[in-house]
Amino acid sequence: MNKCKRCLLNELAGKEDIYAHVQKTRELLSDNERASDSLYNKRLDVCRECDSLLEATCLKCGCYVEIRALKIDAKCPVKRW
Ligand code: SF4
Repeated sequence: MNKCKRCLLNELAGKEDIYAHVQKTRELLSDNERASDSLYNKRLDVCRECDSLLEATCLKCGCYVEIRALKIDAKCPVKRW
């Protein structure tokens, strides 16, 4: 099976359940906790260009980046965002 180097969960076949979990988690965060849409998307754009992204997972911390980027005070483990 080919690995999708630059994919996020919302694009990976067979990961729909996990992506639904991301969306649910995002909805459960309060406005004070949740990164804005623009901040969230900006973070994910950085991840897409990062060599440490593999199949939606950050190889530096082991997190799905779409989950890691959810909270406003979240940080990239190597300070890229
Ligand atoms: S969280 Fe940071 S290190 Fe991990 S994939 Fe995103 S930019 Fe790269």
